[in-house]
Amino acid sequence: MQTKGYATQSATSPLGPFEFERRSAGDRDVQIAIEFCGVCHSDIHFARNEWGMTTYPFVPGHEIIGRVVKTGKDVRKFKTGQRVGVGCFVNSCRTCGSCKSDNENYCETGFTMTYGSLDLDGKTPTYGGYSNQIVVDKHFVLDVPEKLDPAGAAPLLCAGITTYSPLRHIGVTKGSRIAVMGLGGLGHMAVKLAASFGAEVTVLSRSADKQADAKKLGAHEFILTNTDGALNKLANRYDAIVDTISAKHDINGPLNCLKRDGTLVLLGAPPETLDLSAFALIFGRRKVMGSLVGGIRETQEMLDHCGAHGITSDIEMTTPDRINEAFERTLKGDVKYRFVIDCSKF
Ligand code: NAP
Ligand code: ZN
Ligand code: ZN
Repeated sequence: MQTKGYATQSATSPLGPFEFERRSAGDRDVQIAIEFCGVCHSDIHFARNEWGMTTYPFVPGHEIIGRVVKTGKDVRKFKTGQRVGVGCFVNSCRTCGSCKSDNENYCETGFTMTYGSLDLDGKTPTYGGYSNQIVVDKHFVLDVPEKLDPAGAAPLLCAGITTYSPLRHIGVTKGSRIAVMGLGGLGHMAVKLAASFGAEVTVLSRSADKQADAKKLGAHEFILTNTDGALNKLANRYDAIVDTISAKHDINGPLNCLKRDGTLVLLGAPPETLDLSAFALIFGRRKVMGSLVGGIRETQEMLDHCGAHGITSDIEMTTPDRINEAFERTLKGDVKYRFVIDCSKF
């Protein structure tokens, strides 16, 4: 099927209009008319080949919301017209231990990313949600609660699940003390979700102008981190710190803010290596862990939790012709807190 989208042709070129073919819906497939797609910082890292794995042309976008247009004969869960979502991956081996335990995001043979992978035929590149339609295997399609604003729900498919999954994994609950580093797309969802679990949340940010927002999002405290010694008074305070910073930064100061046995959760994916001081870990038996999006079962659980609590992302709508501007403004931290593209305009 002829599909319209936006692509980059190299690491240094801007995005522009791009037409390509998608497969028509097979027996297990759901064909989706894309309504909205969020702009994740990973789209920018990838478009600019900052992780060294991009092939071109490249169509970004893995925070996809749309309506079902057509289903294959083996699809029962989804009906024409239903509102659905697609996140960061569209297939996996389904036979390894991770896939069999609902952790497709950690598929041991490598999952098929929504963009930047080869499809199961081994030759067709996958193209993302900066486009007007997509065809996805039913297992990787999510049911999106109708009562959520669809544009605001789009970022739940990456920023939402990426923060929900580790908060659940480490058992964040009423009374947990959590800090969130970096108040961007992921960071603002981490604040909303941790607060919805009953945690006491502190935002650690370099941007003074985000203080009022942090409180509105559900944070109890805001600490400006770009002054000397800003973290000293926070020593041994948090059960966990969720680090969403997209560029190289210090993690040893934040590690000292963890209680004994506390965990620093690395979600940001700066291309550079981060420095880790042994002393920041061994004093306090602290841990550093990483986390990559979330499995399909947990993504559905997160969407249902957001439906029940009325949680969506704070967004600024944009149009295809302004995607390059959205990239530049995201890099400057000049968006509150996620751009979402109106995909009906492709
Ligand atoms: P974003 O909206 O650009 O937010 C990143 C935030 O980090 C900024 O708002 C800023 O917050 C802070 N920051 C940025 N540059 C900084 C610097 N040089 N020093 C200190 N702080 C800085 O990005 P995002 O979409 O939330 O993504 C964040 C990172 O997570 C990216 O690297 C992305 O690729 C990665 N990611 C990982 C996963 C996963 O599965 N693990 C999933 C999605 C995205 P303040 O102004 O408040 O300090
Ligand atoms: Zn993402
Ligand atoms: Zn697998």
